[in-house]
Amino acid sequence: MSYKIAPEGGNECLECGKEFYGRKDKQFCSLGCKNKWHNRVIQERRHMRMEIVAVLTKNYEVLDALLKDQRMSAELPELEKAGFNPAFVTGHRKGWYRHDEYACFDIWYYRSATRIFNVRRKVSD
Ligand SMILES: [Zn+2]
Repeated sequence: MSYKIAPEGGNECLECGKEFYGRKDKQFCSLGCKNKWHNRVIQERRHMRMEIVAVLTKNYEVLDALLKDQRMSAELPELEKAGFNPAFVTGHRKGWYRHDEYACFDIWYYRSATRIFNVRRKVSD
């Protein structure tokens, strides 16, 4: 975290940008600004978490639909067209052979550059 110190020697409030005087490490002109800034940061972090949960939920739906169709593999472009985002996983393990193993909650699969395979539900080891 960094803050700008106004050239005149005052501090610049992180929230409203107003110049104020006080301890050099003071970041906010008032408690109100401090609370507003922290509430926004907390809200932004919550929003970011919800976006990731939404991506994982979509991935889970796509994988779950594969299993319901009794399919154990699929090409990545087909999955991505359905809304699957391979960059988001809940688990990763170094593969036995050439491919690493990935998880979306209880659904595990292997992934190559172009496809996923051996899609299966796995509760635990
Ligand atoms: Zn302020």
